[in-house]
Amino acid sequence: MNAPTPARTLHDLVERDRDHACEGLGSQRICVRVVAVADLPSRFGGYKIVAFANNRDDKEHVAMVHGDVIGASDVPVRLHSECLTGDVMGSLRCDCRDQLEAALRRLAALGRGVLFYLRQEGRGIGLINKVKAYALQDQGLDTVDANLALGFRDDERDYAIAAHMIQSLGLRSIRLMTNNPDKIAQLRAHGIEVSGRLPHVLPPNPHNRFYLETKATRSGHYIDFAGKPHLDEQSDPVLVEGMGEPGERR
Ligand SMILES: [Zn+2]
Ligand SMILES: [Zn+2]
Repeated sequence: MNAPTPARTLHDLVERDRDHACEGLGSQRICVRVVAVADLPSRFGGYKIVAFANNRDDKEHVAMVHGDVIGASDVPVRLHSECLTGDVMGSLRCDCRDQLEAALRRLAALGRGVLFYLRQEGRGIGLINKVKAYALQDQGLDTVDANLALGFRDDERDYAIAAHMIQSLGLRSIRLMTNNPDKIAQLRAHGIEVSGRLPHVLPPNPHNRFYLETKATRSGHYIDFAGKPHLDEQSDPVLVEGMGEPGERR
């Protein structure tokens, strides 16, 4: 029997994973396979897109890869949860698009890095339920209940999928771009070597100016300048340049 050839390029991963099945990660035994790889030049820099299939549902997760990462150590990594309303439509009810763009720009500037785009709209509750939660807020539901309606809870599955995707790409160790130390602990629990943390900082702009000012004067939730409750839909608190680290602003 031939030993499996180590993957040298991202394209090799497709062949390597053709029949991949393992016992999976986390309580739901998530297993993912690399199924397609292509160049994806973007306005944020040169990327390759890596498409993954998984053994639990039809969600097609992807990794945006910049530079050489296979077998590399200390690879900058960002986990981003899909937000159609923010990422695509430019919604101001959340900061997802700003966070996504800032991460892609920064990873390209760092020379190598991976953004994992996890297709778990509204933290896994789905698009329809997210819009329903927005509708409840429009009717005056308070932001704590709105958060619950939006499915804001730790979801072990998020990290299990991400951990397996990190392993599939052969990243030896990662520096996680996050303001949430819990995320690092969760990835480590799934066997990922996290060698450091890169604070995820957004440049101040007219859209987050209000956020900046409000966060500076009080903690908790707030209504944005468009008059809508504004929520942290990614699992990281947002950090805007000049605000300092999350722990400092209490
Ligand atoms: Zn597997
Ligand atoms: Zn969002």
